Amino acid sequence: MSETMKARAASLAHLRRSKLGVGDPIPVPLTMASIYHAPGDATGFNQYGRFSNANWSATEEMLGHLEGAPCVAFPSGMGAISAAFFALLKTGDRILVASDGYHTTRILADRFLGAFGVKTDVRPTASFLDGGFQGYRLVFIESPSNPTLDICNIAAVADAVHKAGGLLIVDNTTMTPFGQRPLDLGADIVVAADTKAPNGHSDVLFGHVASRDPDIVAAVTEWRQNAGGIPGPFEAWLVHRGLETLELRFDRMCSTAEIIAPRLNAHPAVSGLRFPGLEGDPSHNLARVQMDRFGFLISFDLGSEERAEAFINGCELMHAATSFGGVHTVAERRLRRGDAVTPGFVRLSVGCEPAEELWTAMKASLDRLDG
Ligand SMILES: *Cc1c(COP(=O)(O)O)cnc(C)c1O
Repeated sequence: MSETMKARAASLAHLRRSKLGVGDPIPVPLTMASIYHAPGDATGFNQYGRFSNANWSATEEMLGHLEGAPCVAFPSGMGAISAAFFALLKTGDRILVASDGYHTTRILADRFLGAFGVKTDVRPTASFLDGGFQGYRLVFIESPSNPTLDICNIAAVADAVHKAGGLLIVDNTTMTPFGQRPLDLGADIVVAADTKAPNGHSDVLFGHVASRDPDIVAAVTEWRQNAGGIPGPFEAWLVHRGLETLELRFDRMCSTAEIIAPRLNAHPAVSGLRFPGLEGDPSHNLARVQMDRFGFLISFDLGSEERAEAFINGCELMHAATSFGGVHTVAERRLRRGDAVTPGFVRLSVGCEPAEELWTAMKASLDRLDG
């Protein structure tokens, strides 16, 4: 971890310190309120639950501390992505989206932005620089892409997009700020699903937009206030709690993935394994430069739907579930979500279980495929 991120990790749990009076609770209290005592001039304090909430602010402060940029919280990752799109785009704009990223982003762009006259083009993450960026108001990438784990050079894309007069959004869900900080690489906006590793306990949906451009932050904040897609205070409170252990969990998950990926890759039942941390992976050389960690997602092929299902359901330390980044190891056959992958393609999210025990359980399930 860089010195900067070590310092941010250390102070993360102490952000409230300077605001505490004697006798105040050290953990952030839950503020469930739609209305506030608001006499006189209606400025300078909480007015209404759609405008502000103490739990949103506390969670945004933590996220902002990690991103090194102001953050605006949303009730889901898609809520954050929608806010960035709808607050910044207008009829006649063109956008460019990765063809192999999170599929819902493309559905949102095609179906809903399309209806307002915003045109969407797509391009694969691995060759994202090819073709240039002329004419695009917004360019949206995910690196590593979910679920095939290709990456692209974020700094080079940011530079080329800026020269063409556009803005670059990076969906950093797969990495979190402890794995990669796209704003430091030149991106204008980071969006992320805190549903995943930042909350980490698979019990909440949440998201955020981060940007160092005050106009962008103002635009998405205004969108939230007026469109009404606001986070629940309790959900914000849970994400606040989750963030206190993000560094610890992320470190464990990434370290375990580094142990397990080469062993999976060497197993005869596994083919086409992708993990940016694996020497020889097409993403590896760039990942070493651009990312602080290699992440906790591994994808591979088990040859058929039946074998993939048997592996997932037969592993006693793995849940069959969509989503990723939680304390439990989970895996999913991504064809069932409509990704452009083979029937036996598995996306594995390594959890917080001890590495050797987890590997023993995975190996037993793999060995049983041919038993
Ligand atoms: C899960 C996910 C989202 C959407 O997040 P939700 O909280 O489910 O709305 C967006 N982008 C990526 C890369 C994701 O994995």
